[in-house]
Amino acid sequence: MSFTGPGNYREEAAKTIRDKPEVRTSITAATRAFDAHRVHAWGQIDADRWRDWARDVKSHVLGHLDEYLEQAEEQLTANGARVHWAETAEDALAILGDIVREHGVESAVKAKSMLSEELGVNAHLESLGVHVRETDLGEYIIQLLGQPPSHIVGPAIHLSVDDCRRLFHERLGTPLDAEPDELAGAARDALRAEFLAADLGISGGNFLAADTGTVALIENEGNIRLSTSLPRIHVACVGIEKLVPKLEDVSGFLQLTARAATGQPIGNFVSLIQGPRKNDEVDGPEEVHVVLVDNGRTKLLADDAAWEALRCVRCGACLNICPVYRQTGGHAYGWTYSGPIGAIIAPAMLGLEEAMPLPYASSLCGACTDVCPVRIPIPELLVHWREKAVEQGLTPMTETMGLKAYAKLAQKPDLFAAAGSVLRHVPLELGGRALPVLAGWMQERSAPKSSKKSFLQMWKEGIE
Ligand code: SF4
Repeated sequence: MSFTGPGNYREEAAKTIRDKPEVRTSITAATRAFDAHRVHAWGQIDADRWRDWARDVKSHVLGHLDEYLEQAEEQLTANGARVHWAETAEDALAILGDIVREHGVESAVKAKSMLSEELGVNAHLESLGVHVRETDLGEYIIQLLGQPPSHIVGPAIHLSVDDCRRLFHERLGTPLDAEPDELAGAARDALRAEFLAADLGISGGNFLAADTGTVALIENEGNIRLSTSLPRIHVACVGIEKLVPKLEDVSGFLQLTARAATGQPIGNFVSLIQGPRKNDEVDGPEEVHVVLVDNGRTKLLADDAAWEALRCVRCGACLNICPVYRQTGGHAYGWTYSGPIGAIIAPAMLGLEEAMPLPYASSLCGACTDVCPVRIPIPELLVHWREKAVEQGLTPMTETMGLKAYAKLAQKPDLFAAAGSVLRHVPLELGGRALPVLAGWMQERSAPKSSKKSFLQMWKEGIE
């Protein structure tokens, strides 16, 4: 199974709700638990002040991205890392391909990285004959199933424990009634050999401190630490928006991200990577490559409103709280980033036409903004993209005409009242069939009965 593209969102969402009710059950339970932990963790700190600080630091970096990128490159190079610049996904994959060929890489272990999903790293490496193994437990599970991730932080949260029991029984020979600990142990045993055999370790980067050239990675399982230290080569693919000015900023972001994502004060393991193994060190890779990836990010930065989405730290809190995401999980969104954050970055990164109708996959309730640790105004950005969609003629003609007519009527109170008194009596369905223009809306809803009096009449008479 692979992503089918945002254009199929409506069909895929409907299919998931209709044919896979168990997905909604798993997603809702997991996201509610994540969010409850976030609420608890934020209650332990002055979360509003932390969030203001995080918003300001990220906005500052984005306003001076060129300077910080140069500083980061200088520091990384001084630390002994090799820095590569990738304007597009193809550039990033070509860089990886060169490293693979230069070093005769046959097998790679991967730490969880949404950027690598965005770039299509696994498929590319496999096309070069490299055996690639995901080592995050959730990523490992979906790799065995041949599925893409359905959540930024919990890639397998659409699956139940029973789904995992069946999978591990088939693939790793565990009993069908194995406890989760036993399943994790079986995965650990299987992965150990892969870690020891791998020539190449691939990771993302949660943050990159410009002043010291430090790639910071946060995790709970220890697999990132192994992926970045056991193989002889480590490649970190880092989005250019991941910069922070100073290493001391990283400590604040690591805590805020963990609290927003899983409700932990900090992840179980934090790795700070500054370059390859030194002569007097006993472990670590011989080479560290840092690939700084643009892939649409500068285009997003150039948008006067939408640039704020680049503050995102990929915590997944907006997915966890979103009443729309909770119905389907991430696969329906059709590309790597799902939920509210996916809906606001897709138009710039994929192009608005290709991203349609994701900016509409929201009730605009605003819950996402309330939980965002870097205060991204998600509903405003959704409306921003909706306005652009209307300007570019990407919305259905009936909707555009209907809203134009409504806007005209709403400016003329007498006409509005007259139209209301007539339209109120038009039946929304005839002979059990919805009017064609309302067919989509009425698929999941029953027709409301028209009221005897209009709202204006009731208002004048005094609503009881
Ligand atoms: S938009 Fe905010 S809440 Fe959503 S993933 Fe990004 S940082 Fe987290």
